[in-house]
Amino acid sequence: MKEQKYPLTWKKKDFSIKIFCSIPNIATGILIKAGKANFVVDPGDGILRDLNSEEGTKQILKISDIFITHGHHDHVGGVWSLLTYLRVMRKSLPLTIHYPKGCVEIESIYNAFEHVYLNTIPYKITLRRIEDIKSFNSKNVTIKPFPVIHKEFLNDGSKRQVPAIGYKFTYDNKKICYGGDTAYCDTLVRHARNADLAIIEAGHEDDEPDDMHMTLKEAKSIGKTAKEYFLVHVPG
Ligand SMILES: [Zn+2]
Ligand SMILES: [Zn+2]
Repeated sequence: MKEQKYPLTWKKKDFSIKIFCSIPNIATGILIKAGKANFVVDPGDGILRDLNSEEGTKQILKISDIFITHGHHDHVGGVWSLLTYLRVMRKSLPLTIHYPKGCVEIESIYNAFEHVYLNTIPYKITLRRIEDIKSFNSKNVTIKPFPVIHKEFLNDGSKRQVPAIGYKFTYDNKKICYGGDTAYCDTLVRHARNADLAIIEAGHEDDEPDDMHMTLKEAKSIGKTAKEYFLVHVPG
């Protein structure tokens, strides 16, 4: 298995991405910069440590948007510490958290955070539940959400689809496509094609395709249709 050397970085003029980490069941953590905007995508455990060592407080305070692909702990585990850090450091600019409809993890973390800190939060937080695949803009970036296939096991061994989406970020005519966790699916195939950068998970342990993650072969076949690609979420 190809070893991942994190952080993975990519930059085209003032549009850049840093993937601090992407290890299945452990953590994910991604920072996108577009002009003066700082976006965080899938802040798993360790996001604050990585942002602090790579970017510093000033850049962390500038984060305007958090994008969540789905509620699994390796993608949202750092949300609480990030929100709390921003409170302690007196963030003043507003923060929007985008997440797929039905992602109760984000709503629960936010509700608990608001309950605990009530009137002592110095910045405005907006929860933006994504219910459809319409594009929207933030800070001169166009964001296109798209549904993906990602399942999890229940106690009886059966599986259920979790609310899960990928995102395509377009800035200055450059496109970054991030599928989050997903099995092979047409929406990802479509959005990754001709993207300037595709970030594709290859989280499946063996070579037999399933409906939770992609095999290395599936991930590469999609990645190759983009101008450049990273394979992430590869089991260690
Ligand atoms: Zn994951
Ligand atoms: Zn997942």
